Amino acid sequence: MKTLPVYNPPKVTNVKGAPSATWLKGLDRLLLLVPAADVPARLKQLPASTAALREFSRLKPGPGAVFSSTLSTPQTLGVIIGVLAPNADAFQALTVAGRVAREAARHRPERVGLWAPLHSPATSERADWLLAAVLAEIEPKPQHKRVRGPTWQPQRLTVAGHAQPAQTLAVESGAHLARWLTQLPPNILTPTTYRRALSTLAKQHGWGIQIYDERALKKQGAGAFLAVSQGSARRDAALVHLSYRPRRTGATPSRAPIALVGKGLCFDTGGLNIKSAKSMLSMHGDMGGSAVALGTLLALTQAKHPEPVDAWLALAENRVGPDAYTQQDVVTAANGTSIQVVHTDAEGRMVLADTLAIASRTKPACILDFATLTGACVVALGDRLSGVFTNRPALRDTLEAAGHASGERVWALPMPEDFDEDLQSPIADVMQCLIDGKADHIYATRFLSHFVNPDIPWIHVDLSAAERSGGLAHIGHAVTGFGVRFATTLLADPQFTQRIHQRPARR
Ligand SMILES: [Zn+2]
Repeated sequence: MKTLPVYNPPKVTNVKGAPSATWLKGLDRLLLLVPAADVPARLKQLPASTAALREFSRLKPGPGAVFSSTLSTPQTLGVIIGVLAPNADAFQALTVAGRVAREAARHRPERVGLWAPLHSPATSERADWLLAAVLAEIEPKPQHKRVRGPTWQPQRLTVAGHAQPAQTLAVESGAHLARWLTQLPPNILTPTTYRRALSTLAKQHGWGIQIYDERALKKQGAGAFLAVSQGSARRDAALVHLSYRPRRTGATPSRAPIALVGKGLCFDTGGLNIKSAKSMLSMHGDMGGSAVALGTLLALTQAKHPEPVDAWLALAENRVGPDAYTQQDVVTAANGTSIQVVHTDAEGRMVLADTLAIASRTKPACILDFATLTGACVVALGDRLSGVFTNRPALRDTLEAAGHASGERVWALPMPEDFDEDLQSPIADVMQCLIDGKADHIYATRFLSHFVNPDIPWIHVDLSAAERSGGLAHIGHAVTGFGVRFATTLLADPQFTQRIHQRPARR
C-alpha cells in the first residue's frame, strides 16, 4: 500500500455564460445548484426542459432537496438539481452540493457539466462549491479489498459561468491529501513512512525540508516531545519542518513566513494511562492536525500563494513500553519550561509544546496550529464545527468569518489567563493538565501558551470536527479533512494578513 495517493484529477474547464445547446450535447450529465425560487427560470434557460419543469412543479422540492430529471437536447441528458435556501451560506450550499455529487456518483457519468447560475457577486462561489463537492466525491480513498466496488472516475468536468476552478482544485487537492493520510491504517502510516512521504512531496513541490529526528530534538532540548516518543519501540519520531517560498516578483520585500503547526500522532494508545477499546478505535486519526497543516501547505503551493509558508509537523506515536513516560515525571521543554506530567494521554500538548517553542524561534508572522487535541472541545461544540483560540482577541471575528465563508465553521472560545492558577505545579513551572478534565480544551490552550512567544500572533484550532459519522458539509464520509478550506480562506483574507503584520498595541 502506497503512503501517498496516486491520482490525477480530471480535466476541469470553465465556459463563460449560460449553458449552450452545443455544450450540453457533449455532456453525459448536468449538475445544477440553484435557489428554490430560481429553479423554474433557470430550467427555462436550458433547451427542451419541459420534463424537468414538470417534475419540479410535481415534486415542489424545498431547500436542501435534490431531484433528477432529463433534458432532450435532442438526445436525453440526465440532469441533477440541488435546491438551495434563498440565502444559503457556504456550509448549507456545500451540504446540498455533496448530495448532488453523491447522486451523480450512482450514474458514473464521464463528461460532467456543472452550472450554478449567479444571483449577485455575493454568491459567486456557488459553482466552486459544486465543483468542490464533485472533486471530494471522486477522490480516491485508501482501499485494501481484493475486489473493489465500482468507482466514479469522470474524464472531464466543465463549469459554466463564473468560477475559479484552479483555486478550487488547489484547495481540494490539499484537503484530499489530508483525508487520505488520516484514513491510512496505523501500520501503514508510521512516523517512518510519513517522513518518507514528506521527503517525496518536498521534492515534488520544491519545498525546503529539515527533519529533526530524536537526536536532533534532544539537542534542541525538546524534553516534552521526547517524553512521548520514548514509549515507542521504534526510534522514528521526528519534527519535520517544510518550507514553501513563493517566486519573488520585482522588488517585493520578503515577509516573515506563516507557520502552520500540526499534531501528528500516528497512533495514540493513551500511553500508560491507556484508553479503552472504544476510545482507541479511531486513534490512527490522531495525526489529523499534521495532515491538515500539510494539506494547507499543498493547497497554498498549488494556488501560488504570494507569502512564504512553513509547516512544522510533529510526528510520533504514544505507545506503551518499558520506557513510556509516566505520571509525575518532570520534563523540560525546548524553551526551558519544566512540566509536571499528570496524564499520559495528554500527549498532544506535550509534542506541540516543543513544536511551538521551536517554531517560535524562527519568528514567524503568525502561528496557526491544528490538533485533534481534546475530547472537551467535542463536548463543548459537537463535531459539526471546530474550536479556535487566539492570543490576539481582535482576530476572533476574522477567524469566525473565515469559517463562515469556507463552510468549515469555527467558534472562537475564551482562554482567560486566570485558568493558569489551576495549572500551577508544586514541583515544576507548569502542570500538563488537570486530572479531572473539565474545560480541558481551555486548559490545553493555556498550557500551550507557555510555549508560544507572546510577540507572535497565535491561533490554535482544536479540531472537534475532524471526524463525524456520516460526514460533514460536502464530505460524505467520517474523515472530513476539516481545516484546509478554513485555513486557505483565512490566509487569503487581506484583513487577516494586515492584522497579523500589525504590531500589537502595548500599554
Ligand atoms: Zn492522547
